[in-house]
Amino acid sequence: MATLSTLQQADIQHFIHPFTDSKTLGEKGTRIIERAEGVYLWDIEGRKLLDGMAGLWCVNVGYGRQSIVDAVSKQMQQLPYYNSFFQCTHPPAIELAKTIAELAPAHMNCVFFTGSGSESNDTNLRMVRRYWDLKGQPTKKTIISRDNAYHGSTVAGASLGGMSGMHKQGDLPIPGIVHIAQPYWYGEGGDLTPEAFGLQAAQALEAKILELGEENVAAFIAEPFQGAGGVIIPPSTYWPEIKRILAKYDVLLILDEVISGFGRTGCWFAAEYFDLKPDLISIAKGMTSGYVPMGGVIIADRIAEVIKNQCGEFTHGYTYSGHPVAAAAALENIRIIVQEKLVEKVATETAPYFQSRLQQLAEHPLVGEVRGIGLVAAIELVKDKSLRQRFNSDIGVGTWCRDLCIEHGLVMRSVGDTMIISPPLTISLAQVDELIEKAIKALNDTY
Ligand code: PLP
Repeated sequence: MATLSTLQQADIQHFIHPFTDSKTLGEKGTRIIERAEGVYLWDIEGRKLLDGMAGLWCVNVGYGRQSIVDAVSKQMQQLPYYNSFFQCTHPPAIELAKTIAELAPAHMNCVFFTGSGSESNDTNLRMVRRYWDLKGQPTKKTIISRDNAYHGSTVAGASLGGMSGMHKQGDLPIPGIVHIAQPYWYGEGGDLTPEAFGLQAAQALEAKILELGEENVAAFIAEPFQGAGGVIIPPSTYWPEIKRILAKYDVLLILDEVISGFGRTGCWFAAEYFDLKPDLISIAKGMTSGYVPMGGVIIADRIAEVIKNQCGEFTHGYTYSGHPVAAAAALENIRIIVQEKLVEKVATETAPYFQSRLQQLAEHPLVGEVRGIGLVAAIELVKDKSLRQRFNSDIGVGTWCRDLCIEHGLVMRSVGDTMIISPPLTISLAQVDELIEKAIKALNDTY
């Protein structure tokens, strides 16, 4: 058994980690990351790791940005905190709302600030219900989501999400939230073509609306592609059919862009990538590149007008809604993305190269499917690729591969036996090569 450092021992003794089985920490301890620069991390033992996950899908501009440090420091000196409640606000929050409105789809011109993606989705739940109340349709309350979706970890966020493991802890989902099947062709498509399966998965929404009664359905919430569920990218037929159904029954679309927003698909928002016209967009993560916590909801004009003009006081908000220091970080982060043309670079250069290099991994005997868009991808590890046959989940092949990636100096995440990659948008082509080479070594060792 490895000797744990004093820091690791203190960690195990005092720190209950999110999404971690504490018992697994006993032998090896936690991996303590001490510093970072560009796309690289260094752990406390001095090991250099290429961060193939941009932290938790969030460090879009990469680590070590002095200009964000400077912006935050300047803001802390000038005004470290003030609220945006009760007829007050401050310049960074105003400027950020305006900046985001300019980047968002044309029909979305207002922002409600939160502290995280989970809080954004809690906000969505309250906002859509309030909207329908004010529109004189108070029975429109139910929100339809999907199995295996991830919308955060607060009570509403976890309920909106479709993770059965989360629902089991804490008696979730709360009432008024129902789930339909996810559009996961590789895992659940059977003999159907991706196109036929995509249509079938979308039509589950129509069936659910008809079952509940359209007069009772407020909104459909979805990630453009499911991130934490395993980078599940809907077949091409899915979103057009969903759009048709939402329009037919006047059901709002909440698009959760906490991962996909701020450039990951090669568009500022994946709404553009998938040609969607959402009513609400959840944002967080890449909004500040994770330098400071912050989230928000971008609001379509038709909702914003009702909330502004008819709601009276919207009795919702967080102490840190629009926090000036977070807003300063977000503004500088966005300035960097614009100045370095990162969105365009992902679209025209990095993502095409990344996706083509990834196809090399599809030839590996352990790999059933490689799928991705922009700078995000999944690699499905299977026992028999010709039969799409999976390993027994008890074996933990994904965890094994993830640990072997670390041995080769690469951070990849495993969701079951699906390996996930979502590097900083600043990754260079040479670093993409490095990532692929390390991934191949880890796959070879796993095999
Ligand atoms: N929505 C999506 C799509 C996410 O991926 C996440 C986090 O991974 C969240 C919401 C929750 O965000 P947070 O952890 O900031 O509360």
